[in-house]
Amino acid sequence: MKVSQLFFQTLKEVPKEAQIESHRLLYRAGMIQKLASGVYNYLPLALRSIRKLEDIIREELNKRGCQEVLMPSVQPAELWQESGRWGYYGPELLRLKDRKGGDFCLGPTHEEVITDMVRRNLRSYKQLPYNLYQFQSKFRDEVRPRFGLMRGREFIMKDGYSFDVSEEKAKESYKKMYDAYNAIFRRSGLKFKPVDAATGAIGGDMSHEFQVLADAGEDTILSCSKCSYAANLEKATSVYSENRLDSSNVPPVKDVETPNQRSVEEVAAFLGKTTKEIMKSMIYMVDEEPVLILVRGDKEINEAKVQAFCKGNAVELASDSVIEEISGAEHGFIGPVGLKKQIKILADYSVTTMPSLTAGANKVGFHTENVVIKRDFTPDAIGDFVVTTAGERCPHCDGVLEECRGIEVGQVFYLGTKYSSKMKCEFIDENGESVPAVMGCYGIGVGRTVQAAIEQNHDEFGIIWPMALAPYEAIVLPLQMNKEEVKNAAFDFYEKLNAAGVETVIDDRDERAGFKFNDADLVGYPVQIIFGAKSLERGVVEVKIRKTNEKQEMKIEDAVDFVVNFKKEELKIK
Ligand code: ATP
Ligand code: MG
Repeated sequence: MKVSQLFFQTLKEVPKEAQIESHRLLYRAGMIQKLASGVYNYLPLALRSIRKLEDIIREELNKRGCQEVLMPSVQPAELWQESGRWGYYGPELLRLKDRKGGDFCLGPTHEEVITDMVRRNLRSYKQLPYNLYQFQSKFRDEVRPRFGLMRGREFIMKDGYSFDVSEEKAKESYKKMYDAYNAIFRRSGLKFKPVDAATGAIGGDMSHEFQVLADAGEDTILSCSKCSYAANLEKATSVYSENRLDSSNVPPVKDVETPNQRSVEEVAAFLGKTTKEIMKSMIYMVDEEPVLILVRGDKEINEAKVQAFCKGNAVELASDSVIEEISGAEHGFIGPVGLKKQIKILADYSVTTMPSLTAGANKVGFHTENVVIKRDFTPDAIGDFVVTTAGERCPHCDGVLEECRGIEVGQVFYLGTKYSSKMKCEFIDENGESVPAVMGCYGIGVGRTVQAAIEQNHDEFGIIWPMALAPYEAIVLPLQMNKEEVKNAAFDFYEKLNAAGVETVIDDRDERAGFKFNDADLVGYPVQIIFGAKSLERGVVEVKIRKTNEKQEMKIEDAVDFVVNFKKEELKIK
């Protein structure tokens, strides 16, 4: 490709909305254009990188027995009603009506459609396993689209789904995809970490995310300083070093006045206690069910853990009217003792580490002191419902948890029969019985991964593409286009390099050397081969490796082999 013909334009000024470097670089290098908030045109350079990632994904999946399909982005509401998600998915789901008034949505994910697709073909256990995937544009009406392709509203996802005869086989499929994802991100040249993850609206009970390590990442990861334990903050857990203190001498409960003191901090200060001695009590709605969550006052409630424990589709704070109906009081004065209505109570382990705590009295303006768990109230369960923080102890060893930021580029879920039972995706098993298929689902954000590669690999001059994802692998830079001998030698070399299998462009524009160097650095071609009139007289060219910004001279006839070998080395999985 001649750069004069390439559909791109490098920019000096970028739109203000680009807050992180990779987003700015996508604009500056002429790779994307914004069409609407969170909706982008992918220009040729961006699409080439995306296609390269897709090819890596295809190769790794196909060799593991997966098959590619393509499902529509417009999906009928009936399928979502069948799975029960039409009601739960919330405003992220873009709903549409057709001219006959039929309800549809733009697919944010395809569990329903694939489950329907498979149930139409599935008869016998002999057909399974199936593992089907697609590359497709998803639409999620994100609250805050930002960071370019990282959090778009329309974005390209590879999504895959496995169907197996049993839990055991489904876990094997999950493991296979976990391994495939490790291979895909390693081959893409990314520094990443697989971490334990919460399952959110997709559901299921086991999940890992693949996190590209970068400070601009939106996710917080906690990982052990000693062992391989790593988890998303939503899922991360720790071990308390504190043991439960003796409650046997705690006097009976007693109400005390706490006028206008609602928050843990206010109540603690008012009563001359530490926040650790106060019980934080919040009522949440998990789908339609109210649940009281209790944690020690110095801890934060982790809604993702509540959702996972209750196997709910959605979790949100209860409204004032629900709080009033259940407690007879207001937010800030609720507690587990003396509720008007009995509801499910989940207590965090931290509550059990204190001999007693002060909780809301379910009377406006009052708190109850000396509340002892299992003496004054009985929780339905004691578990982990708090946000774990750096510095706490690893759940697997005596290491300490450390915090870093990550960009979630992929996630794998073990779904079990969540969708197949509801949607009757069944087969006849070996005993002649009809049973639901056991499923897993697996997603990679294709655009997000490509942008994450930029976020992780750039300098003040521009992008430094990992070879595997570079839109082109090399650029030939003739510095004097007005000199026939320079032009001819450069074009000759450009053709040879392409013939040798290196995807090469030539900057044939009649521009100053500095202009061409800047563009080449900005776009981030891994290798630049520079043809200047002077060095050409000696039969040499300069070869610059973008990764190190080092230049070396070599004979023209050695340069093709050099670039071919450099590419080969770079593509080796390290
Ligand atoms: P997030 O937590 O970042 O919103 P998610 O967990 O909801 O993402 P999944 O349902 O797991 O996303 O989707 C699979 C993959 O699709 C994610 O790992 C991510 O790489 C990508 N992805 C999800 N949402 C977006 C988005 N708005 N823009 C670009 N890529 C996305
Ligand atoms: Mg995810």
